[in-house]
Amino acid sequence: MEIACLDLEGVLIPEVWINFAERTGIEELRATTREIPDYDQLMRQRLAILEREGLGIRDIQNVIDGMDPMPGAREALDWLRERFQVVILSDTFYEFAEPFMRKLGWPTLLCHRLEIDDKDMITDYKIRQPDPKRASVQAFHSLRYRTIATGDSYNDTSMLSEADAGILFRPPQNVIDEFPQFPVAREYSELQAEFALASERDL
Ligand SMILES: [Mg+2]
Repeated sequence: MEIACLDLEGVLIPEVWINFAERTGIEELRATTREIPDYDQLMRQRLAILEREGLGIRDIQNVIDGMDPMPGAREALDWLRERFQVVILSDTFYEFAEPFMRKLGWPTLLCHRLEIDDKDMITDYKIRQPDPKRASVQAFHSLRYRTIATGDSYNDTSMLSEADAGILFRPPQNVIDEFPQFPVAREYSELQAEFALASERDL
């Protein structure tokens, strides 16, 4: 049996922070792991901006509620779930992801948590463990599962390397250039074909 490990943002849903920046007009919130590979540095910067702007978790969830998964994402996810055990491995937070999980049919999601005070302000964030995407694939291997992983960005490359097969989905050119060993899919039909190719089973 094989586990399909999927990144969330950039694979099934749009980049939450970029959309949030557009809807709130706060340009500085556009930065993602594509520009700042150091995730802790990136998150500290985001939390400082939210505090400065007086934005709490409810404000953020209201914006996220208005966003949809990428066109075709639900169908692609359902296709995978019929053929693999699917786990979404993300650097997002449960508190941000919930509206999307409802729209995607509540797939299994392993990600991080926010700390929120009694005024609904985000005070901190808790990373489950270091390099969680790679650690999750290692854990699945310890349970004797083969893994096929897909993601779009820097924070996915350790997961893609650790998996039995790794596939880049709509990556930026700099990630393609730095990691030429991974096949690239740009449409969900191509992603499904790559999963079929990487699978030990006939799909
Ligand atoms: Mg991503």
